Amino acid sequence: MNTTPQAIRGTQDIFGAEAEAFARVVQTFERVRRLYRFRRAEMPVFEKTAVFSRSLGETTDVVSKEMYSFDDRGGESLTLRPEFTAGIARAYITNGWQQHAPLKLATHGPLFRYERPQKGRYRQFHQIDAEVIGAGEPAADVELLVMADHLLKELGIADGVTLQLNTLGDAASRDAWRAALVEYFRAHAADLSEDSQDRLERNPLRILDSKDPRDRPFADAAPRIDDYLSAEAQDFFGAVTQGLEAAAVAHTRAPALVRGLDYYRHTAFEFVTDRLGAQGTVLGGGRYDGLMEALGGPATPAVGWAAGIERLAMLVADAGEVAEAKADVAIIPLGPAADTACLGLAATLRRSGLAVDMGYRGNMKKRMSRANDSGARFALIVGDEELAAGEAMVKDLVSGEQERLPLHAIPARIGVR
Ligand code: ATP
Ligand code: MG
Repeated sequence: MNTTPQAIRGTQDIFGAEAEAFARVVQTFERVRRLYRFRRAEMPVFEKTAVFSRSLGETTDVVSKEMYSFDDRGGESLTLRPEFTAGIARAYITNGWQQHAPLKLATHGPLFRYERPQKGRYRQFHQIDAEVIGAGEPAADVELLVMADHLLKELGIADGVTLQLNTLGDAASRDAWRAALVEYFRAHAADLSEDSQDRLERNPLRILDSKDPRDRPFADAAPRIDDYLSAEAQDFFGAVTQGLEAAAVAHTRAPALVRGLDYYRHTAFEFVTDRLGAQGTVLGGGRYDGLMEALGGPATPAVGWAAGIERLAMLVADAGEVAEAKADVAIIPLGPAADTACLGLAATLRRSGLAVDMGYRGNMKKRMSRANDSGARFALIVGDEELAAGEAMVKDLVSGEQERLPLHAIPARIGVR
């Protein structure tokens, strides 16, 4: 007997209303990114493994535990992209996109991470992504944040989602803070979770963001970045918050917010909600001025964000925002001659911009109920008699009224509502 292979754990087959919510997120992003003049990019789904291991940092969760890496038939180590930024940075360097700097880019697509699957967390998931490369000005950070806020509003899901904002300072501030954190956590090492003991020397910032209850009291009482910010870093952060105020984007200061990847500097942020259970971060990003150099490129300031399409789509669906689109008109042919003629009629109406529902089979009763399900206002009933006269019976499915009209008069009758 043949057995059917199962789908890969952590992948999803998205269909119907859920797929509509997914498409709504992507379409809204496409519309909004144009308003902010972000240019579209399409990126490869896989890259040489070094693109990610060098830019994300070997100690990050993504690189140490979550990457899908494999040797191709030529023996080269490749990795399915776990995020967009590193690949975009690689492309910026290898294609000489410096000539376009500052370059504002938008993209979306699938990402792959070997994680424990649960609601809102998958092994193949999808993101929308926006980056500004080659701009060290805080105005770039502000523009990205205002765009993110605008997108959530356009999607109708901004209520209950808050922008949490932090600064990680410049390299000097961050290093001083990091050293203070290592010293502080070392003094409490015995009481920390095993994961955090592990991270202590390599990636102490990550302990701040630990969800383990054993770590929380120490994470909450740890030294704050504010005590280590240089005057320049303070000015930068001040310019970002003033820009947000000018654009009326509300935010909350989150002094313990850090980003998972090593290359972040200055601005770090997340849009979070309590409506998605444990997977409450819908959008995250920040400034990554150190990344290009880690990839062997020239020093290039950059800032960006990414948002999980599935998580946004869940919020869109919860807000009652999605339904599959209704048809404008349903065609009901009665008999073989009408079947063929109606293919022509359907084509004409669709070319004129109407959404036409027409099944392939069934008796009058089945077809009537299908017409009602399609949400169409009108049904066109075409039998031999109507066909001979070059007409159709136009039935208003709301009022029940019907009238016979010549075929050529139908688009006008239906289009005008
Ligand atoms: P988390 O803390 O939830 O693991 P992260 O910091 O790893 O998030 P980023 O790398 O910043 O996430 O990715 C940006 C966004 O992509 C997240 O805010 C989330 O909406 C989405 N995302 C990340 N990983 C997954 C996943 N495995 N499944 C679904 N969505 C994800
Ligand atoms: Mg993660």
